[in-house]
Amino acid sequence: PQFLALRSSWLSTSPEQSTQPQMPPRVPNLIGGSFVESQSSSFIDVINPATQEVVSKVPLTTNEEFKAAVSAAKQAFPLWRNTPITTRQRVMLKFQELIRKNMDKLAMNITTEQGKTLKDSHGDIFRGLEVVEHACGMATLQMGEYLPNVSNGVDTYSIREPLGVCAGICPFNFPAMIPLWMFPVAVTCGNTFILKPSEKDPGASVILAELAMEAGLPDGVLNIVHGTNDTVNAICDDEDIRAVSFVGSNTAGMHIYARAAAKGKRIQSNMGAKNHGLVLPDANIDATLNALLAAGFGAAGQRCMALSTVVFVGDAKSWEDKLVERAKALKVTCGSEPDADLGPVISKQAKERICRLIQSGVDDGAKLLLDGRDIVVPGYEKGNFIGPTILSGVTPDMECYKEEIFGPVLVCMQANSFDEAISIINKNKYGNGAAIFTSSGAAARKFQMDIEAGQIGINVPIPVPLPFFSFTGNKASFAGDLNFYGKILVTTKQKKIHSPFSLLIYIL
Ligand code: NAD
Repeated sequence: PQFLALRSSWLSTSPEQSTQPQMPPRVPNLIGGSFVESQSSSFIDVINPATQEVVSKVPLTTNEEFKAAVSAAKQAFPLWRNTPITTRQRVMLKFQELIRKNMDKLAMNITTEQGKTLKDSHGDIFRGLEVVEHACGMATLQMGEYLPNVSNGVDTYSIREPLGVCAGICPFNFPAMIPLWMFPVAVTCGNTFILKPSEKDPGASVILAELAMEAGLPDGVLNIVHGTNDTVNAICDDEDIRAVSFVGSNTAGMHIYARAAAKGKRIQSNMGAKNHGLVLPDANIDATLNALLAAGFGAAGQRCMALSTVVFVGDAKSWEDKLVERAKALKVTCGSEPDADLGPVISKQAKERICRLIQSGVDDGAKLLLDGRDIVVPGYEKGNFIGPTILSGVTPDMECYKEEIFGPVLVCMQANSFDEAISIINKNKYGNGAAIFTSSGAAARKFQMDIEAGQIGINVPIPVPLPFFSFTGNKASFAGDLNFYGKILVTTKQKKIHSPFSLLIYIL
């Protein structure tokens, strides 16, 4: 694992040392079992968002290299699909062990390239690790069905077969979790895979691939091609790729959904979000405010399940002041600092976009209760930092409400009744997740029945299902009919009751 050794040497570099000039390494592709430097003449800088240091250079893979990766995956398929399921599972068992051993290195890589706090980076890896653990039980998951004597002397059985070469296209916000949503399940089923990591933070994918190879994944079963639009379009158009997993924005997701479907591929496309937290006045104030802070500002708001919009019903609006006080106390700094609550946003362009949306809210008549736009972080003056920001009195016609902000900005709205709040949420075009905060069982039940969102939380701010269920999505947040990881579901629901019996999680 040469590349891992190389990464390890960067990873041991402290932020102070890393300001010294150094030759940024080139991120390799993985083709047919070899980590190879691209012959491309075009490379993009991977930038540490807290310092603007160039961490590495990622290639725009050439068409020949892309074809070589698909050809390697196609060649590896017949042998791999006929490899016993127990052997394939055992590779995942070893893989999960290696991920655990390399957790700190992986986390430091994510914090360096993506900016999130080390704690969030560990969470990023851990949620992906759970999918690898899930894949270790693939034999049971892949079982088919059998019915004897459907007609006189005729028995019928169905089997779950691998498709062939599959591909995954990843966003920047979870550099370990999202690749791990994709390839472990696909390859353990017997497919081979082409992974296209985000060009903004490709390092974690390469480290994970090295660990998967070390765990025993045969050459050609997992391949990595870096790049942007051209590489993605090549994936959509390629005749040998049978299925595409995508996670990212709506613009890219709908383009990929249409283009890959036109070539007859199966597609699962998880896209943007505007998740609402509905707060009833009977909720537990302390727990609710803490949940809103963690879910709104954690990972600098760059989570597809971030609770970016709060709808206060009736008197709950008076809690806004307390929310502002607590948000002010959050520490914004480089993610590798031990006391960091939130790190920078991914790029200068992202910061500009977020600041423009905050200003649009002000121009449209919202009240800026907390403004994080001009924050200066000592020691990291060049970083793309935005402090926690709270807009109040937001209405559905405002741009800051209609657009996904994807930054540390909480948009607060007011509803006079529970029904009005539900209607506001259901009119939003997105439907990734939604949460209610209440102590009323009747209100909780109504919410879970009436809300049009893929993941629903009851006193659970980020109701992401564990891999034995599946990650879903509704309305503009999802296109396709096969969900990521576990069983195919339309909605998952999670509930936390503040009582002596404390935690009850269930799925309908
Ligand atoms: P993005 O769409 O910009 O990029 C995602 C991938 O698509 C990248 O690999 C990129 O190279 C490629 N891409 C981008 N534009 C393209 C185009 N025009 N043509 C072809 N390929 C293109 O997304 P991002 O900024 O990296 O990630 C943030 C987005 O991802 C947010 O909208 C967030 O809500 C969403 N997201 C959704 C989920 C979910 O499960 N629903 C999970 C995580 C992130």
